[in-house]
Amino acid sequence: MASGTLTIDLDALVHNWRALAKAPETGAVVKADAYGLGLAPVAHALAKAGARSFFVATAEEGAALRDTLGQGPVIYIFSGHMAGDTPLINSRTLTPLLNSPDQLERQLSALPDAPFGLQLDTGMNRLGMEPAEWAALRDRLLSKSPALVMSHLAAADEPHAPMNAAQLKVFRALTEGLTAPRSLAATGGTLLGRDYHFDMTRPGIGLYGGAPFTQARPVVRLELPVVQTRTVAPGESVGYNRGYVARQPRRVATLAAGYADGLIRAMSGKATLYSGPNSCPLIGRVSMDLITVDITDLPDTPDSLTLLGPQQGVDTLAQAAGTIGYEVLTSLGARYSRRYTGAGAGAGA
Ligand SMILES: *Cc1c(COP(=O)(O)O)cnc(C)c1O
Repeated sequence: MASGTLTIDLDALVHNWRALAKAPETGAVVKADAYGLGLAPVAHALAKAGARSFFVATAEEGAALRDTLGQGPVIYIFSGHMAGDTPLINSRTLTPLLNSPDQLERQLSALPDAPFGLQLDTGMNRLGMEPAEWAALRDRLLSKSPALVMSHLAAADEPHAPMNAAQLKVFRALTEGLTAPRSLAATGGTLLGRDYHFDMTRPGIGLYGGAPFTQARPVVRLELPVVQTRTVAPGESVGYNRGYVARQPRRVATLAAGYADGLIRAMSGKATLYSGPNSCPLIGRVSMDLITVDITDLPDTPDSLTLLGPQQGVDTLAQAAGTIGYEVLTSLGARYSRRYTGAGAGAGA
């Protein structure tokens, strides 16, 4: 078998969700195929643990989630109600988070009695109604009882960034006295403390074991099989364009995963793999399907090496490649053989 094995610990996922449950309600963000870990098994495990509100980026993702979970949970759509989304929103009972006056008109003309939420911009300038738009529409909107009024923090992973308190202040001012439920915090905001929790939090990355939830249990393990090994003499090179040149005799293992599997090329010569506690440097360039690793210091030749696991989490690997854990997770490719472990395994997998 030439593909790597990606093991996803659903017990750790549920543990992380519970550990982040600080607000009256804790939702779960499962956009981008649950951050690359698999929408169906992740959503089933969280629903079984009690999650009642799920968040995805697009109506298409929402429809897939509804077909997986069935009726019951509320499914919020961050991108709101885009042109062409009406049939999916209607047939799957999705709750768009309306971002603009245009989206509001689309919603009220196409689906006047359907549920919706609102996204307000408090300074990130990415999604959500501007304060002036909200002021003009507020009374009309509130008469329709929005399911949720939310905003998103731009710097919640930096606890001391002044932007956090600034956005909190704007959010409070825009939503003071509302009876609709309010939500401001994703993972980072949840960790900023009670002021940021309001009625619902929306953690994503923390559920999957990523920073800024440094207390998270690791969820992902990635084992890559060794395809072959060889000895390289001084002066010989390894991989494309002589990306690595041996100065001493080296034992090199070729492993079955590359940039097509999410081991982004920026990991070339930078990442570390593990055989139990022993570290082995990735040498040379990452190719499409393969990487090469220096295993000279290992006592024997392993069948596989660990790229993600107890020795090294997604953020450490991300740092080696100059990126963030979110990108490492959502880049994980389709070729791995995926194993789900824990109490929720089996359901929907
Ligand atoms: C992705 C996203 C989240 C989840 O963020 P994490 O940092 O992964 O917890 C929450 N809210 C919005 C609007 C998002 O886009």
